[in-house]
Amino acid sequence: MDAALRAFVRERAGRRCEYCRLHEDDSDYLSFHVEHVVARQHGGSDDPDWLCFACAECNWAKGPNLAGLFAGKLYPLFNPRKQSWKRHFHWDQTTLVGKTMTGKVTVQVLNINDPSRVMLRENLLFEGRFQLDE
Ligand SMILES: [Zn+2]
Repeated sequence: MDAALRAFVRERAGRRCEYCRLHEDDSDYLSFHVEHVVARQHGGSDDPDWLCFACAECNWAKGPNLAGLFAGKLYPLFNPRKQSWKRHFHWDQTTLVGKTMTGKVTVQVLNINDPSRVMLRENLLFEGRFQLDE
């Protein structure tokens, strides 16, 4: 993957994680990744339609996963290239809530409401750098 493709994916996302919406400037210590929405081992590629911009924590937690279990049933993870973030998620203060089964399993598998991540969002909210309507 070349630098131009990375830059395209990064700018298309507005430099925000396409899962948890964290802005790249608000992550103190970890650089963001260009993530394969569908991992290569599942047939994904470096085509921009298969890539998204993700914070390190979302990317590491997602790994090659494509789905998550909820009450014993398998549901697909959120696909930022094919689905609307607002249709699947909303904020309850600084906690991300899944509106759909896809939203719920994505929050769970990507560990988006880990206490340290909620605390980071609370600090950003306090500093006026976290917008709940995004
Ligand atoms: Zn994220």
